Amino acid sequence: MTRTLEEVARVASSCTLCRLSSGRTQVVFGDGSPNADVMFVGEGPGFHEDRQGIPFVGAAGQLLNQLLSEIGLDRRDVYITNVVLCRPPGNRDPQPDEIESCRPYLMEQLELVDPRVVVTLGNFATRVILDRPVSISRVRGQRQNWQGRVVIPTYHPAAVLRGGGDASQTMRAVREDFATIRTAMAEVPAPPLEEQLGLF
Ligand code: URA
Repeated sequence: MTRTLEEVARVASSCTLCRLSSGRTQVVFGDGSPNADVMFVGEGPGFHEDRQGIPFVGAAGQLLNQLLSEIGLDRRDVYITNVVLCRPPGNRDPQPDEIESCRPYLMEQLELVDPRVVVTLGNFATRVILDRPVSISRVRGQRQNWQGRVVIPTYHPAAVLRGGGDASQTMRAVREDFATIRTAMAEVPAPPLEEQLGLF
């Protein structure tokens, strides 16, 4: 039987499937509209997310909010989640077995929210969703068809915040990709195949 998002969140809240459970303050489940047309997938909770129990509330979250508002969206219009729902210690990269343990929660959120557009933020989310060892710098901004949805990979906001020589170039690329998100959302979705074939 299909579970509701609330039921999945309740099960996830006491999850001990991987070692990240031992270091967390709490599980950081997805947040936002349960009927969103667009879902953003990040990497994993950081310090502030772990404390508050909400994804993208720290500095990267502030930048994400700004980018959303630049394309006329509010956080409450979208759904935001992460590849792993518990904070990796010291904000290290999530490990392959941790990502695998958490994958069913990500897939269930995708099925239940059923967004038309999925935006993957950075390498980890892009690789998990596309199930290919792609590099974000190669695929960013390129629309991919995946399980009847449009996937748009872009850089993680933290990559912009980390600064460095090419930070403004990264920001420019992210802004371009957010314009692509806006365009994809404005498109009328194709009718289901059965309808196109006149089967009902
Ligand atoms: N970075 C992420 O990938 N996810 C968050 O929730 C916050 C920062």
